Amino acid sequence: MIKVGVNGYGVIGRRIADAVVLQPDMVLKGIAKVRADYKARLAKEKNYDLYAADDKSLKSFSEVGLNPKGVLNDLLEEVDVVVDATPGGIGAQNNPIYQKFNKKAIFEGGEKHALTGFSFVTQCNFNDAIGKRSIRVVSCNTTALCRVLNALDQGFKIKRARVVIVRRAADPDDTKRGPIDAVVLDPVALPSHHGPDVRTVLPNIDIVTMALKIPTTNMHLHSLIVSVKEKVNEDKVRDVLRNTTRILLLNSKEGIDSTAKVIDMAREIGRPRNDLYEVPVWEDSIKVVDDEIYFYIGVHQEAIVIPENMDAIRALIGGYSKEESIGITNKTLGIR
Ligand code: NAD
Repeated sequence: MIKVGVNGYGVIGRRIADAVVLQPDMVLKGIAKVRADYKARLAKEKNYDLYAADDKSLKSFSEVGLNPKGVLNDLLEEVDVVVDATPGGIGAQNNPIYQKFNKKAIFEGGEKHALTGFSFVTQCNFNDAIGKRSIRVVSCNTTALCRVLNALDQGFKIKRARVVIVRRAADPDDTKRGPIDAVVLDPVALPSHHGPDVRTVLPNIDIVTMALKIPTTNMHLHSLIVSVKEKVNEDKVRDVLRNTTRILLLNSKEGIDSTAKVIDMAREIGRPRNDLYEVPVWEDSIKVVDDEIYFYIGVHQEAIVIPENMDAIRALIGGYSKEESIGITNKTLGIR
C-alpha cells in the first residue's frame, strides 16, 4: 500500500483525500490543515487523521477540541508521498520541508513549472514521471487542453491551436472574490499564460491562448480552433475524441447546452460533489473548415485534476504502467 498524506484541505485537497481512500493500493495517512474549521471537524468525522500545519495551528485545533495527531512534520514521518494542495506559492515554501524528510511530493497547478521541472498530465507523460522525487500536476485548464490536444495531435498532427478560455470567476465556496458584475479581460495583454503552460507538458504544440473571466462558479468553457496537417472531417474528430479516455462527448440535442446542464448531469449520475473528472466536448459543436477543427469543451475546475493526482502518486512510486494506473483510477472514480 502506498502511504499518502495530503497537505492543504480545500477545494482540491479534500477531493484528493477522498479519492486516495478509494484506491485499492493506497492508504490515506492523514491530512494537514491550517484552520480548525468545519472542514477539519468533518475530516475527523470521516476518521481521517488530522494534523496541524504548524505549532500555531496546533494550538487553535486543541482550543476547539479537535486534538490533531500532531503537526505536518509528524505526518511526513508516516508517508511515502505527500500531495501539497495548498494555495499557489505555498507549495514552493513547503518543498524544503518535504526534501528534508526525503519524501516524494506532488504539487498542484498554482505552483510554477520550475519548482519540480516536470509538469504532469497522465495521458501525455506518465512514463516520463516514473520514479521522480517531485512533479507538478498542472492546472485544470491546462489538464483539459493537454488531454484534448494530445489526442488530436496523435490523430491528425497539430499545426497550431488557438484557444479562447472563458473562466469561472471563483469556486462555489469562494465568497472572497464575488459577487461581481463584469467580464474581466484576464489578462488584457495577450496571450494568456495558459498556452505556455500547455507547452510545459506538450512542448511541440504551437498554441496561443486568450482568457476572459465571467461571473459564474460552475465551470470554465474553452472555444478551440485547431489546424491539423492530416486530412480530417467531423466524423474522424468525433471518433478520436470518443476513443480517448477521460474525454466525454456530449450532445446539445439531449438538452446539454450550458455548463449548468453539464454539472446537473454530473449530479444526476451520482458523482460526489457533482464532480466531472472528464473533459466534456460538445460533439455537435465540432466543425471542420479546410484544415481547421472548431469546437467547445468544458472544464470542471474542482474535479478534473483528481484522476491525474492518483496517477501521479503511482508514477512517483513506480511499478505501474500508464494503462494500469488509468484503469485503477477510472474504475474507482466511476469514469466510464
Ligand atoms: P483552496 O484555497 O480551496 O485550499 C487550500 C487550502 O490550503 C485551504 O484550506 C488553506 O487554508 C490551506 N492552507 C493554506 N496555507 C497552508 C499551509 N501553509 N499548510 C497547509 N494548508 C494550508 O485552494 P485550492 O483551490 O484547493 O487550490 C489548491 C491548489 O490546487 C492550487 O495550487 C491551485 O492552483 C490548484 N488548483 C485549483 C483548482 C481550483 O479550481 N480550485 C483547480 C486545479 C488546480
